[in-house]
Amino acid sequence: MPIFSYWFRCTIRFWNSLLSSNNPFLEKIVRADLLLANRSDTWTFQVLHALQDLPTSQQFLDAIRSRQSINQRQFELTLREHIIGGWRDLDILTPHEAHHSSRSMRIYHTHFNVPLGNTSGWWDDRKRNQKPVLPLYLRLDIPSNLSRALSCLRLSGHNFLVQRLRHDRNRRPYELRICDRCDWRTIQDEEHILLDCPHEHLVRLRTQQKLIFPPQFEDGPARLRTFMNQPDIFGVASFVAKCLALFP
Ligand SMILES: [Zn+2]
Repeated sequence: MPIFSYWFRCTIRFWNSLLSSNNPFLEKIVRADLLLANRSDTWTFQVLHALQDLPTSQQFLDAIRSRQSINQRQFELTLREHIIGGWRDLDILTPHEAHHSSRSMRIYHTHFNVPLGNTSGWWDDRKRNQKPVLPLYLRLDIPSNLSRALSCLRLSGHNFLVQRLRHDRNRRPYELRICDRCDWRTIQDEEHILLDCPHEHLVRLRTQQKLIFPPQFEDGPARLRTFMNQPDIFGVASFVAKCLALFP
């Protein structure tokens, strides 16, 4: 999603700078590309096609078709509202309800990302105009092996059954990716392994750390996010790396 946002912003900036150029050759290229806008191998076709997915994009489509510049600030606000809307929709879903194609994105957001959506007061104008702050674990300079472990956890690059049984020949429906390290009959996902699974190695790892483990049923989907954002981020990263090592 952030790449989607940056790509769009750069594209619109590029468009505006094309129009402000006084290079006659460049101007001819822009005109020619517009004339060929119905061909999929042109820049204009691709941009118009991408813009159509944004709500209230008609004014931006019209601007490009008539070689007018686009108000960058207005565009970014529209884009941001669209992205926040997407995150908010994911926020209210449980993993069971999420379609498999959006489950990874939902997990990334609800567990590890900057809180959006259901956080009380988020939608007032004052907060809306603030730039989101990256979570603590992304702002600190931590050893690369620990940083890699956090990235693997956030991006489903681990071997927990919730992920392993997603792609294998042994692919199983989400609700059948049950933890094989304990008898809880629950999904073996990030939250279960890090915070709950009573397997002896995991319990030992938890007791070795002076970390805060939020109790079960607390914070709902934000429980793992609370855990990840606690002050001792080196301790969190080290704990995550050791947990992942138990699932080679
Ligand atoms: Zn378990």
